[in-house]
Amino acid sequence: MVGIVASWRCRCGIRVKVVAEADPSQPPATQTAVCPNCGVSRAIQGDKIVSVTEDTAVSEDIVHNPAAVSCEEKERLLAARNKAFDIYKRAGVELAEAVGIIAHAEFEFLANRVTNARQAFVETAQHLSDHMTKHGC
Ligand SMILES: [Zn+2]
Ligand SMILES: [Zn+2]
Repeated sequence: MVGIVASWRCRCGIRVKVVAEADPSQPPATQTAVCPNCGVSRAIQGDKIVSVTEDTAVSEDIVHNPAAVSCEEKERLLAARNKAFDIYKRAGVELAEAVGIIAHAEFEFLANRVTNARQAFVETAQHLSDHMTKHGC
């Protein structure tokens, strides 16, 4: 058996390091390595995967140089948060305009929508901040 080390930057932003073994007397085989952070798989050469880890040496580098990384996951979470905030803001405006004009039941419906929109916004903001803490981006 010979050892193979493969390493790549996953689209979730971390660097994945795979240690595999291959038997040189056998025809080349392909294994599927799965990113421990986001679960995206990638084909690597080898007969057996020994370990799949996050290459933290590189990740620490990312933490110290946040400007050097463009993190797709962060972009996605940021967009989701902004969208949720927009919906929340609009629902709030609608509610404010509706005060005194519409029936009580309908008002409650709108008020609920604001509460739900606010909740969604808080959750997406939380996801974003969790990701940034964990990922250092
Ligand atoms: Zn990943
Ligand atoms: Zn990130």
